Amino acid sequence: MNNINEIFQNPINTIGYIQRNPKMEKLLNKLGIFTIYDLINYYPRRYIDYTNPVKLANVATDETVLIRATLIRKLSSSMTSRVMIFKVLLNDGEDDIVGIIYGQKYLFDSLQADTEYCVIGKVTNKLIRPEMNISSIVPADGDELMTPVYPLTRGITSNQIKVCVKNALSLTDKFIYEPMPREIIQKNGLVSMPYAIKNIHFPTDSEAMQKARKRLAFDEIFNLHLSLLTLKKANKIQTPCVMNQNVCNISELFNLFSFELTNAQKNAINDCLQDMCSQSPARRLVQGDVGSGKTAVAIACCYFATKNNYQSALMAPTEILATQHYETFSSLLCPFGVNVELLTGSLTAKEKRELKKRIKNGEVDVVVGTHAIIQKDTEFSNLGLIITDEQHRFGVNQRSTLASKGNNPHTIVMSATPIPRTLGLIMHGDLDVSIINELPKGRQPIQTMAITGKIRTRAYNFVRKNVLEGRQAYIVCAAIDGTEDIKGVTEFKEYIQQAYFKDLKVEILHGAMKADQKDSIMEDFKNKKIDILVSTTVIEVGIDVPNASIIVIEDAERFGLSQLHQLRGRVGRGQYASYCVLITDHPTKDAVTRLNTLCENTDGFKIAEEDLQLRGPGNYFGDEQHGFPTLKIADLSQDMEIFKSAQQAAMEVFNRYTIQEIQRDFPQVFHQLND
Ligand code: ADP
Ligand code: MG
Repeated sequence: MNNINEIFQNPINTIGYIQRNPKMEKLLNKLGIFTIYDLINYYPRRYIDYTNPVKLANVATDETVLIRATLIRKLSSSMTSRVMIFKVLLNDGEDDIVGIIYGQKYLFDSLQADTEYCVIGKVTNKLIRPEMNISSIVPADGDELMTPVYPLTRGITSNQIKVCVKNALSLTDKFIYEPMPREIIQKNGLVSMPYAIKNIHFPTDSEAMQKARKRLAFDEIFNLHLSLLTLKKANKIQTPCVMNQNVCNISELFNLFSFELTNAQKNAINDCLQDMCSQSPARRLVQGDVGSGKTAVAIACCYFATKNNYQSALMAPTEILATQHYETFSSLLCPFGVNVELLTGSLTAKEKRELKKRIKNGEVDVVVGTHAIIQKDTEFSNLGLIITDEQHRFGVNQRSTLASKGNNPHTIVMSATPIPRTLGLIMHGDLDVSIINELPKGRQPIQTMAITGKIRTRAYNFVRKNVLEGRQAYIVCAAIDGTEDIKGVTEFKEYIQQAYFKDLKVEILHGAMKADQKDSIMEDFKNKKIDILVSTTVIEVGIDVPNASIIVIEDAERFGLSQLHQLRGRVGRGQYASYCVLITDHPTKDAVTRLNTLCENTDGFKIAEEDLQLRGPGNYFGDEQHGFPTLKIADLSQDMEIFKSAQQAAMEVFNRYTIQEIQRDFPQVFHQLND
């Protein structure tokens, strides 16, 4: 559906019912509903299903059930201290039951004797004198045996929204058209769009509702995927930053490092170089599990850009990580005359000004900094390459802002979050992908164990033993300031220092600390001046201290599996045997299942799939900005098949038509991305 017909773009106050209830307009606006289009695309959250009644004979006491019953007669109405109570006698064809209605006089008055109703309620007192506390009752011959229940905001009821939608539908009924080619509809067994819209709101039964849902979910994914593919193609414009492969020998790049690159790293570097030497700007995602060595790829690419006389920018999500990258980059590249600078929020205003001036003058080859700093107002003289590290929290829109920087520079993004393929296509279907599916040689698998708080002492004695052998440790808490249920970094540090590590150097690190304070703690940790770092998830991404060999995660059940996998990736980065201890004080069945998944798996992709299965897509990415587009109706946890077929269909359309044809024939596709 799209705006072909003006009627869809009319504001909702063109509906009589809303005109008569002006307050409703504001409330609907609050729900994001402004036009008739919005209204008919505002889908119910669930339905009250009156289509599958049970027999009273089969119902147990205290069950809430649906029955289909004839109202024999009204019995009584009485007043308690608070509320009117109405009683009716019902019979389901075999058994009698007394139905009780609280309060709703209007409803009670509307009921008729000798009429059949669908009744939902809780059955009590089954053995002696069965009663049913009625929660809803509708005529059995009505046309709303699946009643929609809409997501609400305070001040409006689901019933009111239902009336609005009904009115909107009766206005637009004839105009809802079919946006999808017949072929796709037939091949995928979809219902028509008019049918889908009608039945998502007012399905005749649950089968009709499922069909409608499937159709709308299909379109949602189809549109999204096709728009990303189109965007990807649209990105293939001419770039002025075409680099030359011959300016530097590939082995020169590979030899920058003290170690032998893995084949996967070499392939990724080759992919990036090819992009940079092509006529259109690189849009590449380098995806590799934690510890797979993505930084080396970034370094090689920046070196290559420098050799081609282009500036590059490396953006990290946190200052800590930016600082770490700066150190790695400068120690490797400075000997070759590459000028690397760090641009962060902790520079003084004057330092910042001067550095920016030098960047603008082209005196700096590689600028390392945080997203914010490089994105905002930094001007380059000749920016050819932008690399974003650990950018799994970056969405399509942010990417386009970035790419608009400078003169269509090449952009490469690095992500350690392995994403199930289907999701990946939606999150970054606009990118080419290189996968680093190999860890550097000699890594020992990290031994992971999940324990309850009861044997915490053992865990910390084990940490102590490791530290005394010369290693270092991370302890992760879920919060900065603790509550009754969650351990906080500050208090917990005091506690464990006293209880286990009196003679060791323990420090804290968290996001609310000042940047220079964080830097100096990280610096000390790197230089082994700190034995144990008690931290929040600020260490989640990127931090690389190979001597750290053990990580303990408190309240582990509070983290997502992928996040735990990331945290675990802070250890096992060097030659030492490494350990990850997950501690929970609430070993519910659910928590144990999840934590065990982590103990049994080291492959980030597998863990991501499991995580998605266990937590559903809503929770999968945590509540941080994740770059995953909001889906209105498609639901990854139940719609994987729809996802695949819709993506497939989008791919086929994309391959068959030109971009102009897609824009002309599938205008609905571009509606969604702007949301
Ligand atoms: P990530 O992919 O998680 O960003 P890093 O780039 O931080 O991983 O690399 C992790 C560690 O592995 C670093 O200490 C790095 O120096 C080292 N490393 C990277 N590649 C190799 C390799 N091919 N051989 C040995 N060590 C490597
Ligand atoms: Mg990294």
